[in-house]
Amino acid sequence: MNIILLGAPGSGKGTLAKKITKDFGLVQISTGDLFRACKASGSELGKKLQSYMDKGELVPDELTIKILSERMQKPDCQYGVIFDGFPRTVKQAEALKAIAKVDTAILIDLPFEEIEKRAVARRVCRDCGEIYSTIDYAKSNCAKCGGSLFQRDDDKLETVRLRLEVYEKNTAPLIDFYSDRLFKVSSLGSPEETYKPVKDFLSKIGGKK
Ligand code: AMP
Repeated sequence: MNIILLGAPGSGKGTLAKKITKDFGLVQISTGDLFRACKASGSELGKKLQSYMDKGELVPDELTIKILSERMQKPDCQYGVIFDGFPRTVKQAEALKAIAKVDTAILIDLPFEEIEKRAVARRVCRDCGEIYSTIDYAKSNCAKCGGSLFQRDDDKLETVRLRLEVYEKNTAPLIDFYSDRLFKVSSLGSPEETYKPVKDFLSKIGGKK
């Protein structure tokens, strides 16, 4: 089973993806994470990716599709993938058709004001990637591994607003694109409350391995 997570940046796609991955044995592929890993390597490609990401702009489709396709060649993808942050444009969705069959698209719904509030509060563990919020976690180290927490450059308010504009223009049309297999959930509640209906739905359509 292959799943797409749709939703504005900061709506909670990463958190939901991790829960689904754990219960349903799918591999989470986040193009944002792939790009950040490449950026951290300091390669020329990484620098190119950084120039788009730091501004909150989308990485060009050709480059995104190339990097995603390479990741999809790895054997761990054969049991099913949860795409987090891909596709982000209709062109990417068209390209995905040739790479994998999309069984369902989960749309995570959250008002933009709430996204802004959560994004500026988000902190990520430098070592294990665990996500925290300064709203309910005041420490500067990860509770799981002790790694230091940091704020992603693209979580700064100005960049968040730009990313929401980019989402409206480029990614929101995908809601129509996947309208025949769309499952909508609100992420206004806790991560557990958001996950519950998604888990029930995926179990019903036979996602359990
Ligand atoms: P994310 O972690 O998914 O919020 O992505 C962080 C940044 O990586 C985005 O703001 C874009 O600059 C870039 N990015 C991630 N996924 C894509 C994609 N599918 N298409 C284009 N750019 C992307």
